[in-house]
This record gives sequence, C-alpha cells and structure tokens, in this order.
Amino acid sequence: MKVALIYPPFRKGKEFPLLSQNRQFKFSKSLEVRIYPVVMATFATMLKQAGHEVLFLDGINARMSMEKFEQKLFTFKPDVVVLETKTPIMQTIWAYTDRLKRETKASVVLVGDHVSFFPGESIEKSKADFVITGGDYDFVGTELVDCIAKKRKTAQYPKGVWWKKGNSGKTKFHDLAGLPRIDRDLTNWKLYGEAYLYRPVAYILSGRGCGRSDDAPGVCSFCVWQHALWNCTHRLRPAAEVVDEIKHLVEDYGVKEVFDDNESGFLYSESYTEQFYNEMVRANLIGKVKISMNARAEALTDKVCMLMKKMGGRLLKIGVESGNGATLERIQKKETTAEIEAGIRKAKDYNLRVLLTNMVGYPWETEEEVKISYERLKRLMFYKIRFGDSLQASIVVPYPGTPLYREAVKNKWFLISPKDYEKFDMSVDVLKSPIDTTMWCRKFWSIQTHPLYLLRSFLSIRSFADIKVAVRGLFSLIGHLRDY
Ligand code: SF4
Repeated sequence: MKVALIYPPFRKGKEFPLLSQNRQFKFSKSLEVRIYPVVMATFATMLKQAGHEVLFLDGINARMSMEKFEQKLFTFKPDVVVLETKTPIMQTIWAYTDRLKRETKASVVLVGDHVSFFPGESIEKSKADFVITGGDYDFVGTELVDCIAKKRKTAQYPKGVWWKKGNSGKTKFHDLAGLPRIDRDLTNWKLYGEAYLYRPVAYILSGRGCGRSDDAPGVCSFCVWQHALWNCTHRLRPAAEVVDEIKHLVEDYGVKEVFDDNESGFLYSESYTEQFYNEMVRANLIGKVKISMNARAEALTDKVCMLMKKMGGRLLKIGVESGNGATLERIQKKETTAEIEAGIRKAKDYNLRVLLTNMVGYPWETEEEVKISYERLKRLMFYKIRFGDSLQASIVVPYPGTPLYREAVKNKWFLISPKDYEKFDMSVDVLKSPIDTTMWCRKFWSIQTHPLYLLRSFLSIRSFADIKVAVRGLFSLIGHLRDY
C-alpha cells in the first residue's frame, strides 16, 4: 500500500503550529523549535519494513507552502493517510479530512493525544475512516494498514482502533524490545532540532511513559501525553538496543548530541542508568556523543548524576511546574519543592546543564505565591551559572481529557467554553487566574536575560559548539518573548 504520514503546514498568520512531538501546543514565531516526531518516524519505518511504500511529509517543519505540500501528497496517490492531532487544531483537521477524502481515494487515519481521549468525536465530526487510540499507534497502525491491504474483517482489527460503526476495544501496550532502528533518511531527520542542542542532533525515545524513582508512574494532572497516550504507564527499551541506535547515529550520521525525549528520560531508574552506562562503555561511545534528556528532579541522586556525567551527559530538561508546594501537591507532581531544588542543585554540582520548565496561571495560585515561585526559580538559575542553563515558562493549559480539565470544569474555572478547542492554543487565557499570566510568563523567561546572568553565562563558554548554541538560543529567545 502507499501510506502517507503527514503534518499539513497549517498556519496562523506567520506562526507555525508546534505539533508533532510537542506536549504543549501553540502557534509560535520561533523558528527554532522543530522536534522530531519519534513515534511517527517509527511508524514510517515499520510500514516500510512491512513492504509498504511510505511518504513521510512534515510540511510544518519543512516550512512548506500548502500548495507545494499538497502537490507532493496528491502526486504520491496515497491509499492511506495518517495525521497527528492536537486539541487546538481539531476543527482544522476535521475540515482537512474532508479535503483529503475529496482529493484522494485514501483511508484517513487520525492519531494523537486528543483523539485518544475522544475517538468517537472525530469519527462523528469528520470524514476520518479510523482513529487509533494510545501512543503505540506505530504498532497498531502497521497492523491496521495490513488489515486494510488484505481487506480483513473488522473483527480482526488490532485493539485500539475506532471506525464508523464500531471499535476494537481498549488499546494495549506493546513490548518495546526489538523496535526497529528508525529509518532516519525516510523521515528527514536533518530537519529537526532545538536551539539549545548541539548539531547534528538526533531525537530518540529510550522508552514510553513517565516513570518515577520509586518505579511508580508519573501522574501529573495536566500531563496530556502521560494520560492520553500512555495511560499512566512507563516502559523502557532494553539499554543495549538504545545504545546500539546511538552508535548507528554517531557512526553513520555524525550525530554530536542525542536527545532522549521519553517523558522523564531513563534516569528515574538507577539500575537502568547503570546498565546504560555499561552499554555506552561496551559500544566505545564515551566521549563521542553528548546525551541529553528529560528528567524528574527527584531522580537526580549522586550516583545517577555521576553516571550521567561519565557517559557524556550534557543537559537535563526538568519540569519544575511551580515553586509552590501546595500547587505541586494539587497537580499530583509527586515531588516536593525541596526535592526539586535538591535535584537541580545536584545536577549543577555535577556540571550538567539544566533547562527548567515552569508554568503560571493555576487558578488557585495567588500573586504572592507566584512571586515566591519566581524567587525560588531565580535562585536556582543563579546557582552555579553555566552556559547552557536555561528556562522556559508557559501558561498552564488543561487539555480536554486530562484530570486538570475535569477539575476545571467541576470548579467552573474556565473563561471560555470548555469545548472551544481552538482557544487551547495559548493565545488567550482559558482559565481564571488572579495574576497577569502574560506578564509573569515574560518575567520568568526574562530571568535568563538579566545582565549578571548573561555575563556569567557567557564567561563560562568553553567551546565553539556552545557559541553556535548561544547564537541560535538568542534568536529562539527573541521568538519566544514575542510569543508572549
Ligand atoms: S513528571 Fe513530567 S512527564 Fe511525568 S507525569 Fe509529570 S509532567 Fe508528565
């Protein structure tokens, strides 16, 4: 079959949608955020290995015009078209499925977080033929395409699929051992990267789902992927297979940095981190590539930081979310402010860089509490300043389907109709808040433009790679500041 996996280049004025591997959606002026859609790329690879002809067409990150995008797509004449969805562009996607059905003979399949929560809605409101629920849509989708190709009865469809007249029941999660090595050429890997990473950079997933250091899953009430895609579970791939993938990226593609975009990386498991380090030694990769990843601060013990540093660890992207303990409890972060502070300081003690993410606009957080959060984060940012440390702030978005969304409906916190999906794109406040969220977002972002911070940060630059990151980072920061 001819299968097209597509990201149509929808735009809002001159702004690009942050779709694909983005948990938080917005239209952004920053040109520096291009995160590689790892599961979709795995899907493309699996389809190709199953003998299908695959077109991987990311019109957003290739910054294509719609005309050029459609010319490529329609010339390909797909039998199946797959699109990833997100709440704020559901109306656009539903309208686009109509166009796809008019212009092609393809079966249209929707995947992603929003449709995982509400599969029936898209089946009813659009011309989509199928919806795949859950994050393992690469496994499920490959089986589904096989069923379509062989004209199998719906009773034989894999779990987790919805169609016009029924569904195959709850999705199941697959064993990640033996996942194919992603076909990077097929999926245009060079298009992708973020300002703060060394180039060439490649994105990987060491697993799927957020784990905590006590081996329990992450359950933060706002965390759309953890709830929609992973159903609050966590899995890791065999360390040897991940390291084998990294070796291939370094030796065959000259990759200098690998970013593990698994929800909380793999550092939450001390024993896995140790195995991973041993595999890096065995593969003779120490000193040849930088490893960066998402992480939970509470997992950052001496041993984990030491192993991370020894294996070539560079940067950790850590969700702080708030410097207010009551908020952390309320959103089910399962970390205290003291644990978060200790973890971040520990990472900095081991000379690892940190990218901290914070949110404002929780309906219950007062101006006074946000000020305390701000001072706390500023102290952490000013602790052992080194080039590469940075901070991102955003306004909390209670995506439909998440526990936070349900709480917001129950407590009448919405300023908009909770079904007005387009408004969930961070362009307006969707929740009541006693603070000026835009002003506070800017204030948090601006911690890193404080003259003393900039001076100490630039004085610590030691490599040409860091200078290149600095230039890209500056443009990215300007883009983000224009977003608020
Ligand atoms: S720690 Fe991060 S990845 Fe894990 S559930 Fe919370 S927000 Fe999601």
